[in-house]
Amino acid sequence: MNSISSPYRIDDPRFQALIQKNARLHQIAAGFEWTEGPVWFADHQHLLFSDIPGNRMMRLTLDGHVSTFRHPSGYSNGNTRDRQGRLVSCQHGTRSVTRTEIDGSRTVLADSYQGKRLNSPNDVIVQANGAIWFTDPTYGILSDYEGYAADPEQSARNVFRIDPVTGKVEAMITDFVQPNGLAFSPDESLLYVAESGSSHDADVPSVIRAFRLDETGKILSDHVFAEIDKGLPDGMRVDAAGHLWSSAADGIHCFHPDGSRLGKILVPEVVSNLCFGGTRGNRLLITATSSVYSIAVNAKSAV
Ligand code: MG
Repeated sequence: MNSISSPYRIDDPRFQALIQKNARLHQIAAGFEWTEGPVWFADHQHLLFSDIPGNRMMRLTLDGHVSTFRHPSGYSNGNTRDRQGRLVSCQHGTRSVTRTEIDGSRTVLADSYQGKRLNSPNDVIVQANGAIWFTDPTYGILSDYEGYAADPEQSARNVFRIDPVTGKVEAMITDFVQPNGLAFSPDESLLYVAESGSSHDADVPSVIRAFRLDETGKILSDHVFAEIDKGLPDGMRVDAAGHLWSSAADGIHCFHPDGSRLGKILVPEVVSNLCFGGTRGNRLLITATSSVYSIAVNAKSAV
């Protein structure tokens, strides 16, 4: 296990209260192709994550023990849990969002919109009322690396909502180049969505947009919340106090709810995503290129 000391860059003194200055960044697993989709299972004290090109999902305990959770995984990407604790996954290979039931069977929650196949669902979150939101960029069908190459059937790369009562899939946000990670503010009045379109077009700004919602999920307004200055935003999480922790090329960027960047936790590999976990829920678990990293912080998940 490699440990890296003092990986912090402080942009704002308020960041000091959110970190543990003596905490080390630990590389707790390595040797994967492209890690993504971390989700913490507190009841089992393990992390599940995707190795997308490896077409597998792994199970990792914080002492570094890794085992295969699912292979093949349908080229899974983002993962989360619903309020009943069930695993919800985005799968590039099947171009679907699935739920793993308590008995282990899988239910397809979404695989088409207006009669056409989805592009390649990327990341997913669940609201308190059970509504499921996911992004649908084209990364998983661009080549045979993270799925199966195909021409998109959708005319846009949307942010979708699955209705908790009817199961209807509805496009809620339709003007992204490539929508990617997403997260809610603690009171769920704001939805944050990452624009990662600069991956293939340098003219697309690497921004996180914030959308104000009503309780039915209708978008009331939106604005640019923050810009990522190194690489692009992919997965993100919001802590209980409303700070947004985003992936970036040089590590994790932490933003105050007012949008100002408080600081960074530098990571030696490009970060794809993160989640909170550990026995006290105050550890960042970071998927970064070929590895998973862990670092204690002074923040906990909003959910
Ligand atoms: Mg992603």
